[in-house]
Amino acid sequence: MIDVTTLYCGLAGGSDALRYGPVTPLLSCESKKGGPGLSSGNRVRAISQGRRNGGAGPQAPASARARKPIVVWTMSRRCNLHCVHCYSDSDNREYPGELTVDEARRMLEDVAQFQIPALLLSGGEPLLHPRFFELAGYARGLGLRLTISTNGTLIDRPAAERIARTGFSYVGISFDGLGKINDRFRGRSGAFEAALAGVRHLKAVGQKVGLRFTLTRRNFEALEDIFALVEQEGINRVCFYHLVYSGRGSRLAEDDLSRQETREALDRICAWTRALADRSLPVEVLTVDNHVDGVYVYLKLKQEDPRRALETLRALEWNGGGANSSGIGIANIDAAGGVHPDQFWQTHTLGNVRERPFSEIWTDNDDPILAGLRDRLPRLTGRCGSCRWKPLCGGSFRVRALQAHGDPWAPDPACYLTEGEIA
Ligand code: SF4
Repeated sequence: MIDVTTLYCGLAGGSDALRYGPVTPLLSCESKKGGPGLSSGNRVRAISQGRRNGGAGPQAPASARARKPIVVWTMSRRCNLHCVHCYSDSDNREYPGELTVDEARRMLEDVAQFQIPALLLSGGEPLLHPRFFELAGYARGLGLRLTISTNGTLIDRPAAERIARTGFSYVGISFDGLGKINDRFRGRSGAFEAALAGVRHLKAVGQKVGLRFTLTRRNFEALEDIFALVEQEGINRVCFYHLVYSGRGSRLAEDDLSRQETREALDRICAWTRALADRSLPVEVLTVDNHVDGVYVYLKLKQEDPRRALETLRALEWNGGGANSSGIGIANIDAAGGVHPDQFWQTHTLGNVRERPFSEIWTDNDDPILAGLRDRLPRLTGRCGSCRWKPLCGGSFRVRALQAHGDPWAPDPACYLTEGEIA
C-alpha cells in the first residue's frame, strides 16, 4: 500500500507506523496557492478521528523487516456477486473442504499468539460465512485487530450494528464506479445501491468505513465520480487498487491501464488528495498493488516541493525492499487452510494450517518462493534488475510478473516509469 495522504501531503494516516515507521507530524501541506489549512498536528488528529474501534492504532516495529504479517483470511470462497476481476474466482455456491469452526478457532489462537498486527476477513463475501460473527467475536476476544473486506451488499442496519459491536477497526467496501458501471463490474444489477446502503448503515452506527476501487480501462473515467462519492458520503478512507492478473482478473490483463493512463490516474489522485487536505477533510487516500506509486510520488514531489520530497524518500527508505510486502508484511490463509505469500498467490501454497500452525509455516524459510520474496532484490531481472529504484519499490508486484512472464523475478508489466526515470 502506498499512503498518498502521508507521502504526498505529509499527513499521518491510521497504519503509518506499520508502513513508514514511527510517524512524526511531517511537513505541512499548504497548497501552491498558499491556503491556510490545518496545522500538521491538527491534521494528524483529524485523520485519526476515524479510529473508533479496535483500540489504539498499531505500534511501529523496529524496522520493516521485523514486522509480523497482516493476515488476510479468505473465510469462504462463496460470494453473492460475480465481479469480473475477482482474484478468488468466486461463485454463489458451497465450496467443499473449507475450515470447520474448530479448525478456524485453532488458527485464530495461533495467529493471535504469533502477534500479527491485524487480521483482514475476506472472501468471497465473508458475511456469507454462516458463523461470521461468532468467529469474528472470537478473534476480537483474542485481542486481534480486525478489519473486513466486503462487497457491502449484505450490510443492513442490524448487520452494521453487529459489526460495530464486534469491534472492527475498519470496513472496506468495493465500488468500481457509480450505478450501472459498478453493477456491470460486479455482475449484478442493484449492487451499487445495496453497497451504498451498506456504507450509510455503517456510518450511521459510527463504524469507520472505506471505499475500494480497482482501476481499469473500463472505469478509468469514473475516478471523478468516486472522488465525489467519497466526499458526499463522508467516507474516511479510499484505496485505489491497481489490477492484479489473478483469478478472473487474469482475463482482464488487456484492460489494464496504459503507462500514460496510470500516470494520469496518479496525478488526479494526488491532486484530489491535496485538495482534501487544503479543505481539512480527513480522508486517508491510498493506492494498492503497484509500489511504483511511491517512487512516482517522490519524483513528482521533487519537481513540486523538494523539501517534502526528502521526507517522502526517508519514509520509503524505512519501508525498504519490502515496499511490496508479499511474503513479509502480508500473508494469506485461504478458506481451506492453505497458506500463501498473499491473497493473489493462490498458485503457490506454503503449507496448510490443518497440518502445521501458521506461525510455523510462516517462519520456515525453506520454501524457495518465500525465501526469494524475502530477499528479492538480487533475483530481479530485466528492467527491474537494473532499475535504480528497486530498493524502494522492491520490483513491485511479483505475482504480476509471474502471471505475465511465467517467472516471478521478471519485470513487473505494470511498471509505468520511463526508461529515463529508472536509469
Ligand atoms: S522497473 Fe521494476 S523495480 Fe524499477 S520502479 Fe519499475 S517495477 Fe519498480
